[in-house]
Amino acid sequence: MQLKAYKFRLYPSRQTEQKLFWTLDKCRLVYNDMLEGLNNQDKPNRYELQAMLPKLKQQYSELQDVYSKVLQYEPYRLFSNLKSLSRLKGKGRKVGRLRFKGKGWFKTFTYNQSGFRIEMTGKRCQTLCLSKIGEIPIRMHRSFRGTIKQITIKRYKSGKWFAMLSVEQKKVIKPHRIRKAVGIDLGLTNIVTDSDNRYTCSPQYLRKSLKKLRREQIRFSRTKKKSNNRDKQKIGLAKVYERITNQRDDFLHKLSYAYIKKYDFIAIENLRIANMVRNRYLSLSIMDASWSRFMQFLSYKAGNAGKIVVKVEPRNTSQKCSQCGEMVRKSLAVRMHRCLYCKAELDRDYNASLNILSSGLKNYRRDCGKSRLSEIEPIPMRQALVCDAGNLYNSWG
Ligand SMILES: [Zn+2]
Repeated sequence: MQLKAYKFRLYPSRQTEQKLFWTLDKCRLVYNDMLEGLNNQDKPNRYELQAMLPKLKQQYSELQDVYSKVLQYEPYRLFSNLKSLSRLKGKGRKVGRLRFKGKGWFKTFTYNQSGFRIEMTGKRCQTLCLSKIGEIPIRMHRSFRGTIKQITIKRYKSGKWFAMLSVEQKKVIKPHRIRKAVGIDLGLTNIVTDSDNRYTCSPQYLRKSLKKLRREQIRFSRTKKKSNNRDKQKIGLAKVYERITNQRDDFLHKLSYAYIKKYDFIAIENLRIANMVRNRYLSLSIMDASWSRFMQFLSYKAGNAGKIVVKVEPRNTSQKCSQCGEMVRKSLAVRMHRCLYCKAELDRDYNASLNILSSGLKNYRRDCGKSRLSEIEPIPMRQALVCDAGNLYNSWG
């Protein structure tokens, strides 16, 4: 059994949308009251908070009009927020306390186990029936099998509504025999350089949208505070932002899919995201986040396909000579690796990806034994191949 997530767009009528907003607001009320309860506790106790719910329902009679499981989910949400906060703290980040949610800051509510149903209409949109809310057209652009365990309704800043489905699926995946292996180096200009000497940078359309985002940001910063124009610009900005995140994810889905399809074994640098420079430009921070997003996509796709992804410590991967193993020190500005010992000359990132692959294979052999790996060595040097990111499938051949 495994849980898979699906995201589908909702098209509520104006009337239903009012009901969605209203439900969001009631969940916010419960969340905030429970947060206050939590702040009064000496030691966080979820069951005590859950026990607050009947009292709250007496106090605010309108809560009767929210599906009970939706309200029961709120203490769970509060505790998972608390957990992720302490996880950040554990990583050495400076964290404050959980904050009360102001109006407009509460964006999701969740139906767990029951209270929802999807009716197949056979048309472009199916119907999502939510208890105490009603029927909402849902555009299910892909089909799936399994049981829906949970539905989270989310409103985005652009004003669009989505349903996130958690679906439980039965699946037995047999691991593949390892025939083809690859090492991947992540970078800024070329998001991916691999040990088959293949270079992929982010696609043109994405770079264009990023430029547009930068323009919109400037326009937004010039509007007057608390003006109508500013509110309008804010929605416009959110729309561009969402579009870029979609474009980026779409590209990263294609890229990771291409690797999973072609290779049985993928070694990749283990980035320490927390240590990376946090960028103050929104557009750059989106690209920064692509690395971890790409790794996330690779890992889950590998899991579904019976392929293997191994993370490698990034130490020395760019300094070591992939051909003879000697250390060749160089600054970040030096783009070529020129070995003083064996005279090898190759692109810096290509050299790194070869090192990543051989460390990955070494680690895997140490942990999982030799038998499944014997066929793939040695790794030959190859001609460079620059990929067209906009048309990945064709450029991979
Ligand atoms: Zn060398």
